[in-house]
Amino acid sequence: MSVPPDDAGARRAVAPVICYPSESLQQPDLALYRRARAQAVQTAALRIPPRAACCFEVPAGHFFRITSVEGPQVGDLNLWYLHDLSERFYSGKTRALHGSHLGIGARMWSTFPHLRPMATILDDTLAWYGIDEHGGAVHDVIGTRCDPYTANLLSGRQYQYHHCCHSNLTRALGDHLGLPLHVAETHVHDVLNVFMCTGFTRDTGQYFMKASPVRPGDYLEFFAEIDLLGALSACPGGDCSAVHSSDAAACHPLLVEVFAPPEGALQGWEPPLPNGYDRSHGR
Ligand SMILES: [Zn+2]
Repeated sequence: MSVPPDDAGARRAVAPVICYPSESLQQPDLALYRRARAQAVQTAALRIPPRAACCFEVPAGHFFRITSVEGPQVGDLNLWYLHDLSERFYSGKTRALHGSHLGIGARMWSTFPHLRPMATILDDTLAWYGIDEHGGAVHDVIGTRCDPYTANLLSGRQYQYHHCCHSNLTRALGDHLGLPLHVAETHVHDVLNVFMCTGFTRDTGQYFMKASPVRPGDYLEFFAEIDLLGALSACPGGDCSAVHSSDAAACHPLLVEVFAPPEGALQGWEPPLPNGYDRSHGR
């Protein structure tokens, strides 16, 4: 039994300190990005079928947009540096830097030893949602991705479901790069949960989801800071209002579009360099 000490109240009352004050991060020049975006032209468009994933490439300095079409749908996004798959999206550090849910101006950071912005969120039609009465918000970096291992674990070891986001992303990456599935799988990583509405319950601290507020026409748009390979899965959970990891939920496609700015539109901007730490680790 844990017995509260006499000064338990005083210990709990200590004010929290932000671990990583974001004011010390170099801020993206959103005004410059927006001017470039206003003149950009579409160079690619692909439709992600329900319960499937597709890959797409975005050169540094270009833009990509993920749009809800036909019905409310959540998407699971993976990003890699196009020229080196070992540099990939680091959801944990992104969460530490920007919080549990990403909004306009937040960056998607890459893994060590690179730790540089991969993409910057430029526009979000769900920015109005904020944090609801349950503590829920959209576009989280807390939920990893739905996967067949956890589904199997929670369903008594016999359950085999093949269209979780983890498997969808694995097949998409394997097809795009010509990799066997067991190799492609090792590159799939924790996602940005696009449009998903999630939080932690106040009483037990458990991860929860609720029906996404996304509607057809809503979109989330990004500026690519480095050359990117992306993969997006249209989650089998659909709007994630009830269940995932099965064919039970109503699912809809998602649209991914890529846009190129005209030459010279990003004057003064350069792709970020890898992190400046010398990697000697004290030796
Ligand atoms: Zn999923």
